[in-house]
Amino acid sequence: MQLKLTFLGAAQNVTGSCYLLDTGSTRILVDCGMFQEREFKSRNWEPFTIPPRSIDALLLTHAHLDHCGLLPKLVREGFQGSIYCTNATAEIAKIMLLDAARLQQEDAEFKRRRHQREGRRGPYPEIPLYTVEDAEASFPLFSPSVKYEEPVRISDGLEASFHDAGHVLGSSMIKITARQDGEERTILFSGDVGRWGMPILRNPSLFSKADYVIVESTYGDRLHEDADIAGSLAEIVNSTCKAGGNVVIPSFALERSQEILYHLNQLLISDRIPHLLVFLDSPMAINITEVFASHPELYAQGLSRLIARNESPFDFPSLKMVNTVDDSKAINRIRGTAIIIAGSGMCTGGRIKHHLVTNISRPGSTILFVGYQASDTLGRHIVDGAREVRILGQSYRVRAKIVQLTGFSAHADRDELMKWLSALEEAPKRLFVTHGEPEVANSFSDYVRDKMRWKVSVPAYREQVLLD
Ligand SMILES: [Zn+2]
Repeated sequence: MQLKLTFLGAAQNVTGSCYLLDTGSTRILVDCGMFQEREFKSRNWEPFTIPPRSIDALLLTHAHLDHCGLLPKLVREGFQGSIYCTNATAEIAKIMLLDAARLQQEDAEFKRRRHQREGRRGPYPEIPLYTVEDAEASFPLFSPSVKYEEPVRISDGLEASFHDAGHVLGSSMIKITARQDGEERTILFSGDVGRWGMPILRNPSLFSKADYVIVESTYGDRLHEDADIAGSLAEIVNSTCKAGGNVVIPSFALERSQEILYHLNQLLISDRIPHLLVFLDSPMAINITEVFASHPELYAQGLSRLIARNESPFDFPSLKMVNTVDDSKAINRIRGTAIIIAGSGMCTGGRIKHHLVTNISRPGSTILFVGYQASDTLGRHIVDGAREVRILGQSYRVRAKIVQLTGFSAHADRDELMKWLSALEEAPKRLFVTHGEPEVANSFSDYVRDKMRWKVSVPAYREQVLLD
């Protein structure tokens, strides 16, 4: 067997997932993600280590940008193979890539002007990494209709199957089977491992056998607390209603927004909160919610039952989808309490900024954070208790109530990752721990080594290993 695996991202860091598998006659990539940590962003500009033209296929686990965000660059630089993923992943990835391209174009223009004003140069060029046209040029390569559990033939002697990862809609774990000279090897990529017992998505798939396993470790050093999300949400909405303000929720467009809608809908149906208007004020979140609504075959059982009873969380009487800017502005004129979900999730851009302008100085309003806030973002400043913040060039006193709900996570914790690994009936020849900060990946790899007595390693960026 002449199988070579190269770790081109998410190796001793979290983002930029990209693995190159070379069989000698076929080269495939699993994921082609964007680096998002500030210290690694310059890697997005580095040339690919091998000519993109020489790559035969790309297998995509899911639509988060740290897994698919460099795809337009790969295509622009010559990749012509097929992109294999589930339909839901393809639909969401297209939305995400277009948005990423637009943001990069805006960012590049902003930086160009600032650098010109300040008479200096930044660490990478003031041009977008890729444009909307580049993103669109990658769309025809998406190969239709990969179905869970059904093997796809990639080339002679190379086959892949996709399995529900339970992480975001359409997300997959990918098992690759390589056959050479009468021998066979299976390589299992965990993708991002979701969680068990979640309301919208199914449980992560389990596997009984694989020769080599690549596992993510985002939360490999901690355990999620069992939070009563619905209860906390009800309390926040009810107290804000009493105080006469609005509930403003900065939220990521993919998964978190739909989860919030799910919980709000449940609370409305069971009369645990008053029948307030719920605004989803984000064209991207609306588009993604439509993808959710059009894939009932992917739902967890509980959600399918709700849909059968006409209780869809993606379409209920008080839910208003806000597409136009005028409609978004009109929300400010509503008297009494409304619930406003808007992007971006860390308040770094998008319509949330306008809702913060209207609400952050109102003592009756609540700003409810439901996702991770990276350092040095507006969201993080607010969560950290800033008394005054600058939004759209003006200063505002923070008088609204600031709340952070921590129970949400789309990633398995340490014990859930162990549950996933423990389904393997035999030790793999080797386990590679990726997609985690170095301390976390190392701590998880020590933990697995200790508990399972397996051969485990934490590969470095660009490290190449022979899978014999
Ligand atoms: Zn992900």
